[in-house]
This record gives sequence, C-alpha cells and structure tokens, in this order.
Amino acid sequence: MNGTVGVIERYKEFLPVNVDTPIITMGEGNTPLVKSTNIGPSVGCENLYFKLEGSNPTGSFKDRGMVMAIAKALEAGRKRVICASTGNTSASAAAYSARYNLQSFVVVPSGEIALGKLAQAMAYGARILAVDGNFDDALTMVRDLATELSIELVNSLNPYRLEGQKTASFEISDALGDSPDMICIPVGNAGNITAYWKGFTEYRINERITKLPRMMGFQAAGAAPIVRDEKIEDPQTIASAIRIGNPASWQRAVNARDESGGNIDAVSDAEIIEAYIRLAREEGIFCEPASAASVAGLIKLASQGEDLKNLTAVCILTGMGLKDPTTVENHALVELEYVEPDVEQVAALLSKDAA
Ligand SMILES: *Cc1c(COP(=O)(O)O)cnc(C)c1O
Repeated sequence: MNGTVGVIERYKEFLPVNVDTPIITMGEGNTPLVKSTNIGPSVGCENLYFKLEGSNPTGSFKDRGMVMAIAKALEAGRKRVICASTGNTSASAAAYSARYNLQSFVVVPSGEIALGKLAQAMAYGARILAVDGNFDDALTMVRDLATELSIELVNSLNPYRLEGQKTASFEISDALGDSPDMICIPVGNAGNITAYWKGFTEYRINERITKLPRMMGFQAAGAAPIVRDEKIEDPQTIASAIRIGNPASWQRAVNARDESGGNIDAVSDAEIIEAYIRLAREEGIFCEPASAASVAGLIKLASQGEDLKNLTAVCILTGMGLKDPTTVENHALVELEYVEPDVEQVAALLSKDAA
C-alpha cells in the first residue's frame, strides 16, 4: 500500500473489479472542478465549471482509463501492451507500464505528435514506432498487431479504458451534489464522451443523481466526421489530440448525443485557439488545444443565443498545456523584454506601461 487512493479503489463498486484485480494507482482522478471567474460570466453562464483533467499523473484524462486497462492486463498475466496514439494514450500507457513492469509499444503518426507527449513516452521508456500515416492508420495497424502477437491492446477499443474514464462523471456528480445540466467535451476517437455518458447513466440508475446532463460534444472543423456524418480521409486541425477522421466509438457517441438530448458540433481552429488563450489569460488555466474545443463550443452555443443563465455547465479540459509548447510559440507568443539588472530603469519601463 502506498496510501494513495485512485479511481479503482474509490469507485470499485462501479468497475469491473474482482478479487484477482490488482488495486493499482498512480494517484489518477480526484481532479479539480473549478468555477469559472471570467469566461462564464462573459457568456451569460453563471454556473460554469472546468474539470481539470490535466491534473492527472501524466497530464491527461487518459490515466483514468489506463489504470483500469493496466490492472486488467496484470490480472490476465500479460507482459506487454500496445496502443496507437495521438500522444496522450502513449504517455499514459508508457507510464503505467513502467510502474508495473510491463513492456509498452506505442504507435504514433509520424510528425503529428505534440512535442511534450513524445517526450513523455521517451522518458517512460516506451518503444516508439512512428508510422507513416495518420492516427486512423496507426489504429488499424495496432488492432492487427495486438491479435497477431497476443499483446494487450490498450486503446479505447479496450472496454476497460472507458470503464475507468467514466469515473470523471462520478466525481463531477459527487462534487456538485447532482448531475450538471450540460457537459461540453472535445470529441476525437469519441471514447470519452461515451464513457461520461455511461458514468452518468449508471449513477442515475443507482440514484446517486436525480437527472442527466445534455452531452455537448465538439469536434475540430477539419476533423469532424460525426458532425458531417462521413469519414474524413485526411483530418486536419491544430488540436492534434482530436485529429481523427474515423472515430472508434462513433456510434456510441451518436447514442450519447441522442439519448441525452445533446449535440455534436464543430468548432474552427481559430475558435479553438481563441478559447485556449482566453482560458490561460482569463482563468489561469493552461490546457492543450484539443481541450479548449469544449470551451470554444460553449462560447459558440452562447453566441447562437442558447440560454445558459440558469444551468450548470461543465467544460472538460482534457489535457494540460505544457504538452504542446509549439502551439504557444505559434499562437500565444509574448515577446521577452530584455533589460539590464537596473531597478531604476526597469521601474521606469514598468510605470510607463501602467500609465
Ligand atoms: C484523447 C484526448 C481527447 C479526445 O478524447 P476521445 O476519447 O478520443 O474522444 C481530447 N483531448 C485530449 C487532451 C486527449 O488526450
């Protein structure tokens, strides 16, 4: 025992845990739910919250599902795991594998992974295969490889991933005392929106909450297969974590949308970047571009005249900003002001600006 309680321990009655399942953890889950100070009021949503999934051990929500998938892999006596990844799944798989003595193979689309995520997979010691293709090509390949070599597949096709990920809706419900009215969430491979909906419906059945939220999913405009109702051969967006043209959980995301009375819409890269910068500069929250799609979506809803005043909305900020320093460099750069170590000069410079 290391004293840390993770999502398996906390929510085991809702998870596929039996006497042989190791209760492992790296302290995932229990992430902050913080109320908006500026963006919410500016769009007429007084009860807007952000779920800071970047506070997970490897900096994204993927850890919630990975801990469950790795626990089940250990239970089954596996020694190796494999995944295709836009970056965060590989970071998480590599970290939990390192901790629990599994070998990890990660397959990434070459040239499409945010720098920080690749750095993580390297640091944790994964074997990294960069495939000449996009995420969808990488996923097709690992599905076949996993079968061929009997390696545990830890993509969100692995049902245990979604089981772990649904714990985020339990936490939100526990923190608010009931379900929120609306969840805004980025949609890539569509596992997370599926997992959240599963979590809320299970909590509702067990009478932990009295209502269900509307699930509002947001894809990037250049990678919006669900919105357009067709596969996208060459998905394009600055938000690499949702640059996916053929989501694995497509139908289940559509079900979550329809059963909840929600919607899945697209936001442009410009809207994503605007939300990303506003989150950092008006809320003090530095998330990755894909995460900001949820807030871009909420802002879009407000601009379309949706009445957000009397409802409680939660935007899921799926991953942390440091993973993608390139986007800061390209879109949020602040010029350094070079100064001499001279108090008077610097004081004069700063008071000139303040005036
Ligand atoms: C994986 C990921 C997403 C997309 O989640 P899906 O389950 O693939 O829809 C969004 N944001 C971040 C930061 C991610 O890592």
